[in-house]
Amino acid sequence: MALDSQCLFCRIILGEIPADIVLRNDNVVAFNDINPQAPTHVLLVPTLHVENAAELAQLSPTITAELFSAAAEIATQRGLSGHRTLFNTGADAGQSVFHAHLHLLGGRALAWPPG
Ligand code: AMP
Ligand code: ZN
Repeated sequence: MALDSQCLFCRIILGEIPADIVLRNDNVVAFNDINPQAPTHVLLVPTLHVENAAELAQLSPTITAELFSAAAEIATQRGLSGHRTLFNTGADAGQSVFHAHLHLLGGRALAWPPG
């Protein structure tokens, strides 16, 4: 599916808006969150515009899995002793950017349950 010129994360993928890119391949771009909630807070996005993780999972289980494997690769590279991967899906779950993105959080002890 095409990129959307109105979408913040599509514009980051295209290089129109700067971001601190940590990984890029054909299907996945990962960059540091601008407002990090942990020492490692990376967002991993598919290089196609899709609103949320539920839609992405239906459209491409393969790319959904690639987001998780890329997150695991970054966690391993950084030697994180533990990490959390999560999607916020829908405004009620805290989603604020409507291009699916996997959060990778680590580098500190993480509380459970989340708020
Ligand atoms: P969510 O609330 O799950 O939709 O997550 C959106 C995330 O995008 C938040 O953690 C924001 O801090 C992050 N964010 C917003 N704008 C940018 C940006 N320009 N570059 C990097 N991260 C951003
Ligand atoms: Zn987008």
